[in-house]
Amino acid sequence: MIPPESFFVSLLGYSLLRSLILPAHLTWSFAAVLNFFPMHPAIPLLLELQKIDSEIAALRTNLEAAPKRIRENDTKLNGARAALTAAKDALAQVVAVRKETEFEVSEWRERVKKFRGQTSAVKTNEAYKALLHEIANAETEMAKLEDAQLDQMMSTEEAEKNVKASEAALRESEQSIAAERKDIENHAREVNRKMLADTSVREKIAAQIPPEILDVYARAGKRHHGVALAPAIKEQCRGCGMRLLPHIYQEVYKPENLEIHTCETCGCILYAAEPAPPATPGENPSAASPS
Ligand SMILES: [Zn+2]
Repeated sequence: MIPPESFFVSLLGYSLLRSLILPAHLTWSFAAVLNFFPMHPAIPLLLELQKIDSEIAALRTNLEAAPKRIRENDTKLNGARAALTAAKDALAQVVAVRKETEFEVSEWRERVKKFRGQTSAVKTNEAYKALLHEIANAETEMAKLEDAQLDQMMSTEEAEKNVKASEAALRESEQSIAAERKDIENHAREVNRKMLADTSVREKIAAQIPPEILDVYARAGKRHHGVALAPAIKEQCRGCGMRLLPHIYQEVYKPENLEIHTCETCGCILYAAEPAPPATPGENPSAASPS
């Protein structure tokens, strides 16, 4: 469907296009656009500028993500540290309860010993019975506490296991996060290096574009997240989809086009992107395409 290049070149004013110096870094697509369509000499450079600007913006976003990832990892690490602290606190609490129980058991044991010692000295049967009652009561209390001690031993084991697991989790987090941090920093350095290289290429391209056109480009780009150029196709701005004034559309497709035209609606810089200029305003331009 694409006609021979020579046909278009002669059709669209090759002398104008040939006068442009193609920078070595221009991609084939822009070179092809340049060869096929009539356009202001700055347009191919602006397209290249837009491409590199979007690359730089993506790299910047990438670079800005690094501190966020580091912060997220720090939050994770703090979480692991807090879990360990909580596990240690829980263990300390269980140990304290156990000590208290041990103390109570020893107190009851002392009482039993004391009551037993008193049994030989009692004079009456009632007093003897009362002592036996006290001994039985103390032994019941001791048995209850000993049952509690069994539960507390199990709780202690559980709490110790939790501390060990939390310590292991923290160690693992510290190691993986340290490794990831190194990766993040290396990646950021690489991105930074690419950004500097792109910025220098950008400067070289921008130096070839008149400042007043660069201003228009910057204003349009600011309005549309870096998209400053829009193809004019079938009398429509493909940036915003609005219909273009026929004479503006004609101007964009003029072989001797030496003016920059912007879309009235979105402000994007318009460029030719159809194989052939429309024959008459309002007519379907594709009808004029040679096949
Ligand atoms: Zn528009």
